[in-house]
Amino acid sequence: MPVRTKEEYRQGLRDGREVYYKGELVEDVTEHPATRGMVETQGELFDLQSDPEHEDLLTFESPSTGDRVPIFYEKPTSKEDLAQRRKASKLWMDYTCGMSGRANDFLANGVTGMAIGHELFADEDADHDFSENVEDYYEYCRENDVCLTHALIDPQIDRSEASSFRLEDDSADRPGAVRKVDEDDEGIVVSGARMLATLGPQADEILLYPFGYYGEDEEDQALAFAVSADADGVRQICRPQLSRNDERNHPLSSRFDEMDTFVVLDEVHVPWERVFIDGDIEAANAWRDKTQTAYAGLTYHQTAVKDLAKAEFCFGVATMLAESTGIEEYFHVQAKLGEISTMVEQIRACVQAAEAQAYEFGDYVIPEPRPLFAVTASFPDQFPRIVDIIRDLGGSGLIGVPHWEDLEAENPLGGDVETYFRGKDIEANERLGVQKLAYEIAIGSLGSREELYERFYTGGPMRVKSNMWKNHPEKEALKERVREYGLQGADEPAASAAEQSAADDD
Ligand SMILES: Cc1cc2nc3c(=O)[nH]c(=O)nc-3n(C[C@H](O)[C@H](O)[C@H](O)COP(=O)(O)OP(=O)(O)OC[C@H]3O[C@@H](n4cnc5c(N)ncnc54)[C@H](O)[C@@H]3O)c2cc1C
Repeated sequence: MPVRTKEEYRQGLRDGREVYYKGELVEDVTEHPATRGMVETQGELFDLQSDPEHEDLLTFESPSTGDRVPIFYEKPTSKEDLAQRRKASKLWMDYTCGMSGRANDFLANGVTGMAIGHELFADEDADHDFSENVEDYYEYCRENDVCLTHALIDPQIDRSEASSFRLEDDSADRPGAVRKVDEDDEGIVVSGARMLATLGPQADEILLYPFGYYGEDEEDQALAFAVSADADGVRQICRPQLSRNDERNHPLSSRFDEMDTFVVLDEVHVPWERVFIDGDIEAANAWRDKTQTAYAGLTYHQTAVKDLAKAEFCFGVATMLAESTGIEEYFHVQAKLGEISTMVEQIRACVQAAEAQAYEFGDYVIPEPRPLFAVTASFPDQFPRIVDIIRDLGGSGLIGVPHWEDLEAENPLGGDVETYFRGKDIEANERLGVQKLAYEIAIGSLGSREELYERFYTGGPMRVKSNMWKNHPEKEALKERVREYGLQGADEPAASAAEQSAADDD
C-alpha cells in the first residue's frame, strides 16, 4: 500500500479503541476536542508525503511492492541517505514548528533501527524467531504507513527501588509494571501499566519495550512487543487537554497537542508475531544500548532535527517579538537573541557531526550517536532558557494579548485595539500574531508541557548525561593526558632528601 492520506489515517483511528477523557469513553478521537487537533496535523504530515512537491524527498520505492512508502523506513546505506532523512524530518518538524516530537517520523525511524539490528532479538532458547518478527513488523509498518507510539515507563507508584533511572541490572520490586501473565500457542498475555504514550490516542499501534535494566528473576517483565491501539484490554487515560480548539487565537496548542496517555494493559493477548523479546534478560538489557544500536542512531538523529527546528522557530519568534516593540536595538537584547542563535548553531553542528562520523552497521550506515546524545543532554537546559528569554523580551505584552475578535469588532473596541496594540513600525494585526505565538511558547500550557517533554522524554537529562560520562570513548586516554601534561610526573613519589642531595652533588 502506498503512503496514506489524511482521510485514510482518520478512518483508521475510528476503530473502537478505548481512550478515556475525564471519565468518559472518547467515541471518536478524530472528532473529540482533546484529540482532534493533532489528528489533523499528523494527517496533514501524511498528506505531504503524496504532495508532488515533496514526494521525492518524503518517500522511496518499496523494495517489496514498488509503491512509494515513507522515507523514514528506508534503511540508509550512505551518508546521502542520512542527509535525505534529515531533510525529510526537517520538513515535518518545520511544519509543526518543532512542537510535535512524536510525529510519526520518530518511531518510523525507531522501527527501522530495530529492523537493522534485528539479530539482537534472536533468542536461541525460544521456540519463536523474534529476530524475524522484528523484520516482519518493520515491513508491516513500512507498507501500511502505520502511525506509532511507545510506552516504556513503569507507573510512578514507588520509585524507591526501581525506575528508569536504575542503571544496574539488580532485581527490584516494580509495582504495576507490565508482566507476562500467561501464554498459549497463539501468543502471550500481558497485564500492567505503562506511562506515557505521547500521541497514544492518535496512533495506530503502541510499542512496549524495555527501558532501564532487568535482573535475572525479572523474566516476566523482560518483554518487547507491539499492540494495536484497539486491542482488547488496552485502555488509555488522557491528561487534561492543552488545545483550545481555536486555531486563530491559539495557533500552536490547537494544532500540536499530541495527547499523552497512561496505558493500562488488562490481560491483553499479543500474538507471537508481534512479540520481539520474551523473557530474554540479556536482550532486554542490551538491545537498546545507546552506543551501539541502529535504533539509537536513527531516533536521536530525528530528535536532534526536531530540536533544531524548535530552536530555529523560537529564534524567529523571539526576533519578531523584539522587533515589534523596537527593543532589538539594545545590546542586552541582541545578546539574548544571540544566545538562541548560538544554540541553533550548536545543534546544527552536532547533527552535521553525527552524519560526518556515520559508521557502518552491517550493510547500513548509521549516524554516530554521541553528538546526538550531546544535543539531547543539553536541550532540556537550553529550551527553558529560550522560554526565559522570550518572557524577558515580551514583558507584559506576552500576557496582555487581545483576541482577534477584539481587533475585528466594531469601533470603539476594534479601533482601540488597532490604536493601542500596534507596535513599532507594524500594525496591530501583525503584532498580535507574534504575541500569540510567544504566549503559547512562554506562558501557555503547551509551552509548559514542551518544557517537561524536553526534560523527560528520553528518560531524564541525568540519565543521558550519566551515559555520556560512562560511555565516553576517550576517558582513559584523557586521564593519561592529564597525568602527562598536567602533572608532569608530580604525582610520582618525591625523591628522598638523601637521594635528592646526592643528585644535587652530581
Ligand atoms: C510530556 C512527556 C511525554 C512523555 N512521552 C513519553 C512517551 O511517549 N513514551 C514513553 O515511554 N515515555 C514518555 N514519557 C515518560 C518519560 O520517559 C519519563 O518521564 C522519564 O523516563 C522519567 O520517568 P518518570 O517520569 O517516571 O520520573 P521518575 O522516575 O519518577 O523520576 C522523577 C524524579 O525522581 C527522581 N528519581 C526517581 N528515581 C530515582 C532513582 N532511582 N535515583 C535517583 N533519583 C530518582 C529523579 O530526580 C527524577 O527527576 C513522557 C514524559 C513526559 C513528561
